[in-house]
Formats: sequence, C-alpha cells, structure tokens
Amino acid sequence: MAPVTVITGGARGIGAATARRLAHAGHDIALCYRRDHAAATAVLADIHAAGRHGIALPTDTREPDQVTHLFDTATQTLGPITGLVNNAGVTSPIGPFVDLAVDDIRQVVDVNIVGYLLCAQQAARRMAAGSAIVNVSSVAATLGSPGEYIHYAASKAATDTLTIGLAKELAPRGIRVNAVAPGIIRTDIHAQSGMPDRPDRSADRIPLGRPGEPDEVAAAVAWLLGPDASYTTGTVLRVGGGL
Ligand code: NAP
Repeated sequence: MAPVTVITGGARGIGAATARRLAHAGHDIALCYRRDHAAATAVLADIHAAGRHGIALPTDTREPDQVTHLFDTATQTLGPITGLVNNAGVTSPIGPFVDLAVDDIRQVVDVNIVGYLLCAQQAARRMAAGSAIVNVSSVAATLGSPGEYIHYAASKAATDTLTIGLAKELAPRGIRVNAVAPGIIRTDIHAQSGMPDRPDRSADRIPLGRPGEPDEVAAAVAWLLGPDASYTTGTVLRVGGGL
C-alpha cells in the first residue's frame, strides 16, 4: 500500500514543495490550507499528474474539530495515515519585542504551537509502527530572532522540544518523530512579516550566500519521512545554508 501523508499548510511554500516531492516519491497526500483555495487546487492537480491520490481540505489547524475532520477524512479517503508533515506556520510584522501586539503573539503561538500539538496528537493516535512525523521548525529556534520576532523564535523552540519528547514517547511503538529547521527560504511568509524581499536582502549574512528554495527543505523532509532515516528519531535537521 502507498504511504499516506498529511501535510498542513500544503498549498504554498515549503508545504507545497513537500507535497509535490512526496507525490513523485509515491505518497498519497492529504493537504490542508486555510484560505488559498486556488493554490491548493494547483498542488492537487500536480499530485494527480504524478499518478497519486490526493485531497485538499480547508482546515484551520488551531481548531480541534477541524483537525479531527482532516485526519478522519484523510483516513477514509486515502487509507491509514503513515506520515505527518506539521508545517502550517505564521509569523507577524518584524519589529522590537516591546512593540509586539498581543493579537500577533496569540496568533503565532496558536498556529505554530497549538496547531502543531493538535495535529501531532491526531497522528499519534492513529499511526502504526513504521510511521513518521516531521515538524517544520526554524533556525530561529536557536538564533532567537532579536529585533525581528522573538515570539516566533520561541514558538519554534517549542517545536524542537515537542520533537524530542514525542520521539521518545512514540519510539516504543515504532513511530519516528523529527524536525527540519529551515533558514531563510524563498516563500510568501516574508510578506506577512512586512518584508517580501527579506530572502534576497539577507543573502550576505547567510554563509552559503543565498536564500534557500522550498524544494531544498522538502528534500530533507522526504528523507526524514522515508526508510533511509529508519534509525533517525528525535533529531532537528538544520537546512539553513550555514545559519
Ligand atoms: P507560507 O508560504 O506562508 O505558507 C504557509 C501555508 O500554511 C499556507 O498554505 C497557509 O494556508 C497555511 N496556513 C497558515 N496558517 C494556517 C492555519 N491556521 N491552518 C491551516 N493552514 C495554515 O509559509 P512557508 O514559508 O512555506 O512556511 C512553512 C513553515 O516553514 C512554517 O512553519 C514556517 O514557520 C517554517 N519556516 C519558514 C521559513 C522561511 O523562510 N520561509 C524559515 C524557517 C521556517 P493559506 O495559503 O490558505 O493561508
């Protein structure tokens, strides 16, 4: 049977690149998104063109009932879930910590932490031995993002802790849990922080001298999900061009 992988935030950016790469590697894909229906439809068309089954569901990962519905529908439509890519994440306008709005703090914590916890819980309840979870973290978890978005960095440090703890808790059941920590990747997320050209503007402080592309992160996600990573669990794989 084909692997069945749920990808949150799979319609754009790193999630979309991961959906396309995994479909080519033989996965059936259930992706969720929040609003961008056109982007989700385009990714779904590529999954089908790769000869795989796929569904795309509007789902707000902050909402427990919607998350349950996503996992129920994926199971009913595609079969038992063997993979989760916890990827749907947000940031907020770049600026000093003292100026942060409470709504922005709550939004980042709700999506990046509560959403990841809810999805990991649904996956862990349903998965059998041989399954795997990959959480998309950030190099911000260890760099702290001073002057930019400390709350976001803190949410990603929580992602790393979730990865370590859940890996140990699920290891006896034969389920692996890892994270990737991207550096500065060329996606639309930088528009949310008020700096759409941040990837190119940041090139001179990245040791490899350029921002990353979504598919370079997707490659690491695919490796961690797959059988070549069979003895790898509880690790955070940095994909940051040296950051
Ligand atoms: P992106 O291009 O902005 O795409 C985000 C995706 O997540 C979209 O499909 C969006 O759906 C979805 N989403 C957002 N909030 C959601 C919610 N509450 N429920 C369900 N889906 C939701 O972002 P990205 O750059 O690919 O980032 C993906 C992950 O990588 C995030 O966790 C981010 O923190 C992490 N990351 C990114 C970078 C980077 O430089 N890009 C670096 C380090 C880590 P809609 O389109 O419908 O809104």
